[in-house]
Amino acid sequence: MSRRGATAALAMSGAAPGAMTTPAQLERLAEHLRKLRLLKSGERLEAMLQDAAARELPYAQFLEQLLGEEVAAKTGKNVAMRTAMARFPFVKPLETFDFAYQPSIDRKQLQQLATCHYLEHGDNVIVLGPPGVGKTHLAVSLGLKAIEAGYRVLFTTAAHLITVLTKAHAEGSLDEKLKVFTTPRLLIVDEIGYLPIDRLGANLFFQLISRRYERGPMILTSNQSFGAWGDVFGDRVIASAILDRLLHHAVTLNIRGNSYRLKEKLKAGLVRSQNEDSQTNPGGEI
Ligand code: ADP
Ligand code: MG
Repeated sequence: MSRRGATAALAMSGAAPGAMTTPAQLERLAEHLRKLRLLKSGERLEAMLQDAAARELPYAQFLEQLLGEEVAAKTGKNVAMRTAMARFPFVKPLETFDFAYQPSIDRKQLQQLATCHYLEHGDNVIVLGPPGVGKTHLAVSLGLKAIEAGYRVLFTTAAHLITVLTKAHAEGSLDEKLKVFTTPRLLIVDEIGYLPIDRLGANLFFQLISRRYERGPMILTSNQSFGAWGDVFGDRVIASAILDRLLHHAVTLNIRGNSYRLKEKLKAGLVRSQNEDSQTNPGGEI
């Protein structure tokens, strides 16, 4: 409807708050909203005024609706921006995780983590398990919950992190680079243990852990048990110094199960289940 038409409709209804709205008033309101950067309200004002007039909404209800839409739009934009900044490899909410497929995961514990209290306490979350069991999925899902709760999150892999820090070290910009990984409230380091880490890399990783220690919570995932981290970092002393800090305040999720990637093949009986394997290998992979 045109501005003139909208005004006429409002005037005809004879109801507050739109009854007295003139085109000049609408212009001024639009300008105020633009200046206040209330863009959604600017888009919706005319329609909402008409609706309020037609339904004879009380003033407070009209204002609540208008501001409610503005807040929802701003929150949505903010979440989308922080999700893009987090650099997740994929975006999968916790609600898409099939807990029935992975009974070794305590659904209640995940729901507790989804409240983000661990972030307030500065606790780390460490997810261990063989390939394909959903470690990255869970790390991303918890990262998304943290974003919804208003936190800044950054996702990286151990290999990428160490490459970036090693380069920065060589170029004399280590301090600056460490800040990139210490500023976000939550840092997710995926895939510790897939690639061996050299002595310098282990040292740089230790520096990062020390900086975040008791200040910045982290989610880490690994396909290797803690006992094998000495080999991952190529140095038992550094590995135990890293683990000492990480585990001081930490929740560990130990996933023992079948790869979700093999779900269809398992169904078709093309591969053996991890549960069958664990009868001959009671310790499992981890
Ligand atoms: P990991 O990091 O442990 O190797 P991923 O998290 O990358 O495993 O999972 C492999 C793929 O299977 C991903 O696409 C992931 O979303 C999916 N996936 C894994 N476990 C589940 C699950 N329980 N429910 C739904 N999707 C899952
Ligand atoms: Mg993974």
